[in-house]
Amino acid sequence: MAERTEKMSADQIQLMIEKEIALPSPPAIAVQILNTVQKEESGLLDLVNIISADPALTGKMLQIANSDFYSLNNKITSIDRALSVLGTNVIKNIALSFVIATDLRGDKQSSFNFDNYWRRSVTSAVAAELLSKKLGQNNKDIFVTALLQDIGILAIFMHKKSDYSSLFNSSHLSESSLIELENEKYGFNHQQVGSVLLNNWGLPECIYQPIGYRHNPETAPEEIRNTAQILNFAGQISSLYNEEDAAEKVRILQGDLEEAFSLDHNSFRSLLDDVAEKSIDFLKSFEIEAGEMKPYSQMLQEANEELGRLNLSYEQLVIELKQSKDKSERLAQELKGVNLRLSDLVYIDALTGLYNHRYFQENLSNEISRAARYHSSVSLILFDIDFFKKVNDNYGHPAGDQVLVNIAQEVKKSVRPSDTVARYGGEEFAVILPETDITGVKVFAARLRRSVEGIITKIDKQQIMVTISLGGTTFSPEKPDVTKDCLIKTADRGLYMSKENGRNQVTVLAADNSMAS
Ligand code: GH3
Ligand code: MG
Ligand code: MG
Repeated sequence: MAERTEKMSADQIQLMIEKEIALPSPPAIAVQILNTVQKEESGLLDLVNIISADPALTGKMLQIANSDFYSLNNKITSIDRALSVLGTNVIKNIALSFVIATDLRGDKQSSFNFDNYWRRSVTSAVAAELLSKKLGQNNKDIFVTALLQDIGILAIFMHKKSDYSSLFNSSHLSESSLIELENEKYGFNHQQVGSVLLNNWGLPECIYQPIGYRHNPETAPEEIRNTAQILNFAGQISSLYNEEDAAEKVRILQGDLEEAFSLDHNSFRSLLDDVAEKSIDFLKSFEIEAGEMKPYSQMLQEANEELGRLNLSYEQLVIELKQSKDKSERLAQELKGVNLRLSDLVYIDALTGLYNHRYFQENLSNEISRAARYHSSVSLILFDIDFFKKVNDNYGHPAGDQVLVNIAQEVKKSVRPSDTVARYGGEEFAVILPETDITGVKVFAARLRRSVEGIITKIDKQQIMVTISLGGTTFSPEKPDVTKDCLIKTADRGLYMSKENGRNQVTVLAADNSMAS
């Protein structure tokens, strides 16, 4: 289909379009404007009359005439003044733009977004006007030409409705792909339709001809190629402000404009900014929402500021992360220390520094299990200070404490590293002796009794000496069923017997579950 389109003559295409599409008729007032302008002499006055007869149009015309767009020194308050200052062509073009844009507004419920369409068209018109000026070309019709350059889209939509909307929406990302889809589906495209339509409406050649090449200016005849090219660039600038991915498009567009018109970087940037500023003005006059539109350099600046904020918060984040890492490491270190001390607290007796009752119980269980596993012996000694009450009574409680501390140190000194010395309770102590049989425990207990006997605790020139009574027993491989409780009870019975038998002595008994109960 696309190939067929290219091979067809302009006349054939026109026939085909006219056969396929009922083209909308021009707004009556637009026809009047065009007719009067062509009538050279009487034209001016008639044009003033036509516009002045429509107060809404007059208001908009004056608004535009006084806008930044034309940078006039004095405020213009009447159409004939506007005409003499800006010239017939400008006034005619502004009037036509308003008339057509107002007429072809569509309704809000439509599947075609008319506001979007006109927003793009007005931006294109402003861009074309500014670009043309920047290039020193005085094309008086460029504004209205660019404004109407995609009017073919409207014409096709009005005839094909939803059939075209789905096509239009599917190709919304690129206009050249829309042209291809149209060629495939209808055998013609919107730039051809637009050109035929405006020709039928009686607009001059310099307007409708370049529109027929706006998407492929390189194929346009020499004399209209430049205008087609400006229309094309204007459409792209408009896309920048009305579509996503502006940054990428700006880069490409800048390169293209530099190549086509040697437009330098700064001129390009100021052109972009001007297009947005002036378009916002114009859109107001056309009563179209400008939406998010803002000058490109402002968009860039905002993007940079946002980036700056992001970077800043990223740096802050890094600092905070590092701080919290340091803090958590410090905490972990502290916790480690605290844990060590905690486990100390859990198992160590505060006064004597010996293991406490809890540790004694756990350790005795472990040693019994181990002895059972390795068929070895473990012995236990419990001892209690004789008449300790009297020490407290005679020398005071602190002195009693000191005696306890001294005995603890002495016992610790006498045992092997593998032995466990614990404070069993008040002034009772326990010693666990792994790998020690009943003979061994008798020997060790006797030695312990003697060494405690020799301890002298000095308090205020007074000397305190105490004795201990001991009970001992052994877990042996011969009786692997002997329990921890049995062992403790047996040692305790030995201790009791030592007390009974006169104190300061050792009683070692064999452990036996039946005896313990
Ligand atoms: P026995 O020969 O029968 O053991 O006579 P005893 O006086 O030692 O009698 P008992 O075992 O009944 O009394 C123990 C005393 O030890 C009672 C308590 O005041 C004292 N005592 C227990 N723990 C401590 C302690 O931590 N410090 C001090 N100073 N005295 C303690
Ligand atoms: Mg006691
Ligand atoms: Mg005692």
